[in-house]
Amino acid sequence: MRLHWKWILACLSVLILVLASAHLYLDHAIRDFWISHVEQRLLREVRFARVYLSDMANTDEELVPLVNEVGVRLGVRATLINGQGRVLADSETDPYDLSALENHADHPEISAARQQGRGSNSRYSNTLDTEILYVATAVPEIGDGHYVLRLALPLRDMEHIGQLISQAIWIVSILGLCLALLLAYGTSRYISRPILDAIWFVKNIASGRLKHRTLRVSSTRELHDLGTALDDMRRQVQTHIGQITLEKSRLEAVLTSITEAILVTDQIGRILMGNQTFEKLFGVSDAIEGRMPIELVRHRDVQNAIDQTLKTGQAVFLDLTRSDDRERHFDVQIAPILQDDHIAGSVTIFYDITELRRLERIRKDFVANVSHELRTPLTTIKGCASTLADGALDDRETSQRFVKMINTHADRLHNLVEDILDLSRIESGALPLEIGVYPIREMINSVVGQIRPLAKEKTLTIEINTKENVQVQCDHKLIEQALFNLLDNAVKYTPEEGKIWIQTRDFKHGENTQTRIALEVKDTGIGIPLSDMDRIFERFYRVDKGRSRAMGGTGLGLSIVRHIMDAHGERVYVESEQGKGSTFGLTLPGV
Ligand code: ADP
Repeated sequence: MRLHWKWILACLSVLILVLASAHLYLDHAIRDFWISHVEQRLLREVRFARVYLSDMANTDEELVPLVNEVGVRLGVRATLINGQGRVLADSETDPYDLSALENHADHPEISAARQQGRGSNSRYSNTLDTEILYVATAVPEIGDGHYVLRLALPLRDMEHIGQLISQAIWIVSILGLCLALLLAYGTSRYISRPILDAIWFVKNIASGRLKHRTLRVSSTRELHDLGTALDDMRRQVQTHIGQITLEKSRLEAVLTSITEAILVTDQIGRILMGNQTFEKLFGVSDAIEGRMPIELVRHRDVQNAIDQTLKTGQAVFLDLTRSDDRERHFDVQIAPILQDDHIAGSVTIFYDITELRRLERIRKDFVANVSHELRTPLTTIKGCASTLADGALDDRETSQRFVKMINTHADRLHNLVEDILDLSRIESGALPLEIGVYPIREMINSVVGQIRPLAKEKTLTIEINTKENVQVQCDHKLIEQALFNLLDNAVKYTPEEGKIWIQTRDFKHGENTQTRIALEVKDTGIGIPLSDMDRIFERFYRVDKGRSRAMGGTGLGLSIVRHIMDAHGERVYVESEQGKGSTFGLTLPGV
């Protein structure tokens, strides 16, 4: 039930109780007052009538008209009763009917008058349908000395006045009730409005609307204090929420900027949040809050580890390999969130170690490859040297052959070491680029000058098809080295009588309006099988190991080219058809 209804009901109950009591009391008091008033009057009158009768009546016969006269003059009913209770005269009864009247000896006022000289009583009269007050007095002066004179007056007036007073009380009560109702309603509104205001205010705070106006100030002290306290609370909550929001956004910014996938759960293992990396990694598009990690991560080991951390409060580490579109490796670390010695949740971090693993594998492969590549020439050199030491030196022809072999393999070792050094220098970034503008023709001529003797040996023709005055922006030493490697390969993998072209062409790339130059080396060589095309830029990758070695190749040439182009932010590309020839191209920014 609402407060103001309760208040109105309480006021009404009190008012009805008070009015009813007042009603009852007044009713009673008025009646008592009226009866005593009428009784006093009748007493006075009966005393007078007694004197009158005793003075005027000489015989009993004269009593009847005298009693009638008393009744008429006083406006009451006068009755004279003898010692046996029989009515001798009655102002309202015909003298002939007197004998029909009942005996009055037992009537209380009569017996009282007879014993104490006077008596009174009030009774309800069925005949008159009203209450009648009787007052009697002994009249020893007349008759046999036992006569009693009684005066009676109906209390009709009293009832009438009682009714009037009762009506007045009812009207006043109803008016009072209405007024009280209005007053109760008004006061209840007066009290409940600030409370309703306070409820509205608290609801606003609960739903986060903290910037609303402050509470209306109430004139009641207690409600005024309540309003002030609530307003203080709102300000404090606003400050706290401000701080929490700031911290939350900071945390979100930190979590978003972290490249590791992060997952936070509550104490029963339900997800509270995950950062963007997590959502991207596990392809989550729907809301993740409230779900279990296994639903998203789909790895029982991770779920078990989170459960274990939540149970024991200990950090757990595990390896995770995912192979969706490509294989990825993660170091997963699960740590508990402790709050007052309780485990309040867990944080899982997925460290992506795919690249680390790849680099580790490359390093291992590289070491294995280098060792393998070095072993062959070293074994050969050692074998030749031992043979020579064992006496072959004496045989001039054999010793020349072995020395030549030692020389060839030493060259190979030298090439290999040079290539490895170049590669590691470019790769480590230890070689800063010296970018400048260079005429491409000069660079080509310089490289072709170095390579031409080798080409001549294999009866290969080299043709240069470039426009004059084409200039490019690059580190010319490195680009010359890249071009040398491409030309060297073209010479190595093109059979005798073949042809090699060096050509440049302009092209535009995307939105970029800067002229770009493609420097291409085309040959009529053996070509590259499609299946190997992707891998020829890897270190030590060779389509035909035997042939490459025979040609003095190290398997590092194209790898060096790729690294040089990467360092320039440019690229190397290849088109090839097995048995027909290959085209290798370098992209360069023109001027
Ligand atoms: P290598 O020292 O073996 O030449 P590279 O890294 O320069 O090593 O080349 C890798 C492999 O690519 C070579 O072993 C060869 O099989 C293939 N290759 C490179 N250039 C050509 C070419 N112009 N024609 C055919 N095959 C080529």
